[in-house]
Amino acid sequence: MKVLSVNAGSSSLKFSLFEMPEEKELICGVFERIGIDNSFYSLKLNDQKIKKEISLADHKIAFEILINELINNNIISSLDEIKGIGHRVVQGGAYFKQSALASPDNMRIIEELASLAPLHNPPAITGVKAAMEVFKNATQTLVFDTAFHQTIKKENFLYSVPYKWYTDFGVRKYGFHGTSHKYVYSKVNKLIGNDDTKVITCHIGNGASITAIKNGKSINTSMGFTPNAGLMMGTRSGDIDPTIITYMLKNKTMTVEELENVLNKESGFLGISEFSSDSRDIEDGIESGNEKCILAQEMYVKRIVNYIAKYYVELGGCDAIVFTAGIGENSIKTRADVINKLYALGIKLDKEQNNVRGEERLISTIDSKIPVYVIPTNEELIIASDTYAMIK
Ligand code: AMP
Repeated sequence: MKVLSVNAGSSSLKFSLFEMPEEKELICGVFERIGIDNSFYSLKLNDQKIKKEISLADHKIAFEILINELINNNIISSLDEIKGIGHRVVQGGAYFKQSALASPDNMRIIEELASLAPLHNPPAITGVKAAMEVFKNATQTLVFDTAFHQTIKKENFLYSVPYKWYTDFGVRKYGFHGTSHKYVYSKVNKLIGNDDTKVITCHIGNGASITAIKNGKSINTSMGFTPNAGLMMGTRSGDIDPTIITYMLKNKTMTVEELENVLNKESGFLGISEFSSDSRDIEDGIESGNEKCILAQEMYVKRIVNYIAKYYVELGGCDAIVFTAGIGENSIKTRADVINKLYALGIKLDKEQNNVRGEERLISTIDSKIPVYVIPTNEELIIASDTYAMIK
């Protein structure tokens, strides 16, 4: 059975088509600059990359072009071969503990939740609606970034603000990247041959979060009410003293929107280095002695180390640590910097083994107290598997 995994942004549409249950990816790609000038799409098929420039007025047209490509490349012979479409939805609030059908009721809920994720939920809704118009007979499902974290207990998900903020306004930690944390957790359990494990999963990409998982359940995670909590990220500040916000608003000439933009788009690596949000550039900057890049990397690494140490204590030990996502999978330096700072926990890096990018591998020494793995994430596959399970 063919299942399409979809991640819709406001002007983009990422997709992967899987043959299920074999979990074989048939094609993947992305439509970019939808609704704006110079739109194009790129496809990856049989290890070949194809890029085409074409006008993309909306997400529906992108889906129609996708169908033509699938037919022209002999991946499907008719639209009805695609039985399921799984949509990534960032914010499922406290409503969704697992993936769900895109029923009218569920669609209403994610529309209501848009105020909690104004940048993410509205484009996801656009994507679902467009897919419904094009793939009329397919089962459409919603796969939430937040669902995996719904097992977190109140003492971990509440902020120490008036309780009414939680009951009246939904102010609490939701956590994100849930599909990624869940995926690498299930992979590492297979590697260590045990299901009842305590694992710390580090999804370190442009956005970054760390999760403490015990016996398959997320017990704490670094992102919070929004994806701008916890770690320092590419352009996001992560945790800061909340009074900085009121101070900057009261004393500096900045609107709420401008401040929000700075905290989300001009902070993190970019804000500190004043050079780049991309860890590759930061590493180049370090090589050439750029002091702000050196400082940004030190701050970045410290925060990751602090979360791992905190979750080690919270879990009461740890059976494995996993690095995933763009930086976690590819930055040999960042992994080394983090692991070398964890020596107090008896964790030891195997330098040779750590010389790897984008590949599953044990990167700690045999005598390391906790094994450390690189495991490439595959959120698209989780979306397809959950969709397949619902169709079955
Ligand atoms: P993601 O959001 O998961 O796509 O991750 C994006 C981040 O991964 C960016 O900061 C990239 O610089 C980083 N990244 C990708 N490849 C490498 C690499 N070879 N070395 C260091 N960082 C990398």
